[in-house]
Amino acid sequence: MPEERTQHSEDSKGRTGPEDLRGSVATFDRVEEGATAIATLSTTNHEVFESRVRDRSHVCLACGQASVHRFLYRKNGCDILRCEQCGLGRAETMGFDPESYYTSDYFSGERPDGYADYIGTENILRREFAGTVEFIRKFRASGRLLDVGCAYGFFLHEAKRFFDVSGIELAEDAAEHCRRSGLNVFTGQADETLLGRLGTTDVIVLLDVIEHLPSPRDTIALLVNHLDPGGIIVITTGDFGSLYSRVAGAHWRLMTPPQHLWFFSQASMQAMATSLGLEVEHLDHPWKVVPLSLISFQLTRMSGLRPKRIAISNRLGLPVNLFDAMRVVLRKPSR
Ligand SMILES: [Zn+2]
Repeated sequence: MPEERTQHSEDSKGRTGPEDLRGSVATFDRVEEGATAIATLSTTNHEVFESRVRDRSHVCLACGQASVHRFLYRKNGCDILRCEQCGLGRAETMGFDPESYYTSDYFSGERPDGYADYIGTENILRREFAGTVEFIRKFRASGRLLDVGCAYGFFLHEAKRFFDVSGIELAEDAAEHCRRSGLNVFTGQADETLLGRLGTTDVIVLLDVIEHLPSPRDTIALLVNHLDPGGIIVITTGDFGSLYSRVAGAHWRLMTPPQHLWFFSQASMQAMATSLGLEVEHLDHPWKVVPLSLISFQLTRMSGLRPKRIAISNRLGLPVNLFDAMRVVLRKPSR
């Protein structure tokens, strides 16, 4: 019965390693079904079976479950896996060192996976960030604001009209650029030492940053400790559950490991927030004004060519919404 065979191979997620046996009886069942699938393996379902073999078990950082992570594809030498419980995507990398990665090259178009010309597009970015500040003020009108991964400080310059601002940035050049423009910015990772020096705050923003963090859950947990009760965390990141992401697969514009390590869905964002005692107060897929040069840069990269530094249209922007990026406001309860 070919149909039944297909069924078996679809379910053959279980590995025989001790990791898979931890947890539930259901997991144990899957191991047995996996063994059945091996016994009934035929050439027609070989391919499906191959990909299932690369599934593995992980404790998911978003939903906290020891769950099967389905192998989706390989991209840039990294395995991309997805938690079967909540939809969180993860890139498995070997020896990725963020400190040596986020250098000035990253922001100046020297690397195909970085920004086209971050400083050159300041005007457009600042207009965009002014909109983000307006959005944030609907949830918190003023107070202290911390930007984690503040890059060249363009957002902070817009935010400082209403907030008492500071920032953390890993790239030394970018942090130095911020300080020269009068901003209170620290170089380094958002760790206990650095956050201790900054004290508590009312608003924390991570704009297109969470997907870069080696351990986003630990970082957010740490940030929650430095957030005043009633304060908010504003996160922008891709939406791995979006139609565009699912259709484009490995070719999705935000599928760029090892630069991006985590791919949140709405469900995984909700799961992580709840488990950290935060309330999801708002989630949407905002329109964005994108510099033409960045659009051209990303299109060139997607076509498989190595992008060159782009001389055109740094000052022009285009409103874009592929509904594949989300903006989330998480609130720490007041009591
Ligand atoms: Zn999960």
